[in-house]
Amino acid sequence: MDVKFVLDFDGVLFNSAFEAFTVANRATTGRDGFRQDIAYEEFLAYRAVVTDAWHYNRLYSTAQAVPAAALREVEPTDADWAFARDFFAARAEIMADPEWPKVMPAYDFFFLLKPLLQQYPDRFAILSTRNIQSIRETLAFHDADVVRVFGQEDIRRLGSKLAVAKHEHWLDRGKWLIVYVDDMNSHLEPFEGQIHLPLHANWGYDHVTLGSLSANQVHTIISSLLNIAERAADEV
Ligand SMILES: [Mg+2]
Repeated sequence: MDVKFVLDFDGVLFNSAFEAFTVANRATTGRDGFRQDIAYEEFLAYRAVVTDAWHYNRLYSTAQAVPAAALREVEPTDADWAFARDFFAARAEIMADPEWPKVMPAYDFFFLLKPLLQQYPDRFAILSTRNIQSIRETLAFHDADVVRVFGQEDIRRLGSKLAVAKHEHWLDRGKWLIVYVDDMNSHLEPFEGQIHLPLHANWGYDHVTLGSLSANQVHTIISSLLNIAERAADEV
C-alpha cells in the first residue's frame, strides 16, 4: 500500500474567495438582469455551497435567483451555462494580467507544503471544483506546477470529487493509503469510511469541528507519512 496525498485547492492551498468575487463581478457589472449590489459577505455565504461556476448565476441573476439552501435542487438551464461561459471568459481576461495571482494569496499551508510538492510530485494530486487552467497557472506562478490536477472539467464529466477518486482507483482496497485534505465538511463526508485519512482544514471557508486540524498539524501528518513511505521505498 502506497501513500497518496489529495489536496483541495480553494480554502486549503489558496485563499481564492476574493479572486472568485472579482471574476463574478467582472462577468456581471453593468449588465441588465444581474444584481449590482452584492457585498463580499453575501458572496462568501453563497460560495460555501457553490461547486460549479454556473451556481453563481443563481446569486447574481435578478430573474433566476435561488437561496443558497435550495441550490442543490436546481438543474442548470441554458442561461446557467451561458453564465458559466461568461464567468470563465472574465477569469481568462483577469488572468491575462501577469499580476493576477496577487488577488489569490497562498495560505501558510501552501508554503509549508511547497518543498514537498517539488520533491515528491508523484505522491500528490489536487482535486478541486475550480477550472484546471487557473489552478495550474497559480501553481506555475509559485514554481509548483508539478503535481497532477483534477478540476472542474473532471468533476463535471464524472459527477463528484468522490467519483473522480473512484475513477483514479484511489479507493481500491489495499492499494493506496489516501490522505485527503479539504476545508468543506460536505466535500469530506462522502469520503468518510472510504479512505484512511479525510482531514478537515480549519483555515478555510467552512465551520470548524472537533476533528478539524491546523495547517501545522496537517503538515506534520503529511511529512511524517512521507518519511515512512520514502524509507520503505529505500528498503525495497
Ligand atoms: Mg475548498
